[in-house]
Amino acid sequence: MTIKPARTRIAPSPTGHMHLGTARTALYDYLLAKKTGGQFILRIEDTDLKRTVPGAEQEIMDGLRWLGLNYDEGPDVGGKFGPYRQTERREIYAQHAKVLVEKGHAYPCFCTPDTLEKTKQEQMKRKENPHYDGTCRVLSPDEAARKIANGEAYIVRFKMPQEGVTVAHDHLRGDISTENKQFNDQVLLKTDGLPTYHLAAMVDDHEMGITHVLRGSEWLGTFPLHVNIVRAFGWHEPIWVHLSVFLKPTGKGKMSKREAADAMKDGYSIFIKDMPALGFTPEGSLNWMALMGWGVAEDDVMSMEEMIERFSVDGLTPSPAAINFQRLDHFNSTHIRLMNADDLASRIKPYFERENLKVDDAILLKMIPLIRERLVTLDDCLAFGSFFFKENVTPLPEDLIAKGLDSKQSAEIAIKSYEILSALSEINHIVAEPPMRAYVEQSALSANQVFGILRAAVTGQKVSPPLFESMEIIGREKVLQRLKNAIEILQR
Ligand code: GLU
Repeated sequence: MTIKPARTRIAPSPTGHMHLGTARTALYDYLLAKKTGGQFILRIEDTDLKRTVPGAEQEIMDGLRWLGLNYDEGPDVGGKFGPYRQTERREIYAQHAKVLVEKGHAYPCFCTPDTLEKTKQEQMKRKENPHYDGTCRVLSPDEAARKIANGEAYIVRFKMPQEGVTVAHDHLRGDISTENKQFNDQVLLKTDGLPTYHLAAMVDDHEMGITHVLRGSEWLGTFPLHVNIVRAFGWHEPIWVHLSVFLKPTGKGKMSKREAADAMKDGYSIFIKDMPALGFTPEGSLNWMALMGWGVAEDDVMSMEEMIERFSVDGLTPSPAAINFQRLDHFNSTHIRLMNADDLASRIKPYFERENLKVDDAILLKMIPLIRERLVTLDDCLAFGSFFFKENVTPLPEDLIAKGLDSKQSAEIAIKSYEILSALSEINHIVAEPPMRAYVEQSALSANQVFGILRAAVTGQKVSPPLFESMEIIGREKVLQRLKNAIEILQR
C-alpha cells in the first residue's frame, strides 16, 4: 500500500502562552507529515482581535523551533498556500461567506447586540437555553439585499439544518451522531468583517489542502457544525482526529492557573517557554508528551527519528492523559544520558554562563563523565559542577567539621591532607588516592570523616561528583589553595 503524503497543520490562536496541548498536537502533526513524506504547516488563527496577546505569535514560533518541530510552511517561512495568518486572509473568508449565502447555506443577520441580548433574557426567563431565534433566517433575499443597500450592519450566520441527524466521523472515536434541532445558527462572519473559527478554519483547511485535522477535544461540541459547513461547500472532508484531554497530575479535572503556578514552584511547567530555563531538553520533553495520548508498546524511549518511524494515527488514544511530571524527569534524564559529550557540553554551558561563571571548554568536557549520570535536568549541572569554574569556594564552617569531631580535630585532618597532597607533583586519582587511603587506615578515622572534610574544602559543598576525579580537574594549585583556605576557616 502506498502512503499518501499527509498535509497537517498546527493552528494556534496567539492568545496566551504556548502550552503542552499545542506542543503535543504539533508533534503528532509533525510526525504524521514526516512519516508520510508530507508537509507540516503553521497557521496563526488571530481573528479574535480582543484576545490577541502581543508576542504570543513569536512565542509559538520560538517554541516550535526549540522543540525541533520545524514547519514547512508558515507566516515567517512562506509557502504556496499563504498568507498563513488569518487576519491577512479577510477577503478569502468574505468570498466564501458570500458563496454560502448564495447557495442558501448562510444568511446575513441584522439583529443588533441589544435585540439579541433582549431575546436571550426572555428565553432565560422562560427557562429555555439561550439560542438565536432565527429572525433573519426567514428574511427574503430581497429584504436582506435592501437592508444591505441601506447600509445596515450585519453579520453572517450559518443556516444549520433543523431536522435530521448529523453524523460526523472521528478517526479515533468513530461516528458521532447528533440531532440537528439542538443546534443554533452560528456566526460565520462578525461585524468587523473577520470570520469566526468555524468559518476560517474550515476554509483554510480546505484551501491549504489539509488531509488530517488533529485538534483538541474541546472542539467535539462544534464538530457537527464544522462538518455541515464543509459539506455545504461541497468539499471533501479531512480525516478528523480529536485528541485526548490533559488532566492535572492528580488525574482529576483540568489544570487551573493556580496549579500551573504551583507546578512552576516545583520546577515544572506546562508552558513551552519555561522548559529551557528549567533544564528540560527538547528530546526529553517531546518523548514525554508523545506518550500522553499515543499508546506505544515496548521500549518507550525514542529519538525523533524513532518516533517518526513508529508513528501512526491509529495508535493515538482518545482517553484522557494525566500530566505526570515525574515521567518528564525520567525522559529528560534518559535523553541526557544518550547525548554525546560534546553535545551535552554545549547544552549545559549556558547554565554556567547564566550564573556569570567563566567556562573553560576543556574542563567542561572533562567533567561531563563525572556529572552526566546525576543530571535530571540540565541546570542540575550547577549543583554538581559550579565549583569547577569558580576562582574560590567558601565552604560553610559546619560542613568542614566531620561527624563526631570538633573544629580543632577537623583542622588537623585538613593540615595532614595538605601535607600529603602538596608532596605530590600532580593531583589525580591514581597518585592521590592511595596515600590518602593509607592515611585513613593508619588513623583511627573513617574514610567518610577524612574525605568529607576534603570534599567540603575543595568543592565547597557536601555532595559532589567523585572526589579524586574532581580534584584532578580542579588542578593541584587550586586544590591546595582551597585546602589552605579551609584550614584557616577551621582555625578561626
Ligand atoms: N485556533 C484553534 C485553537 O487554538 C485551533 C483549533 C484547531 O486546531 O483547529 O484552539
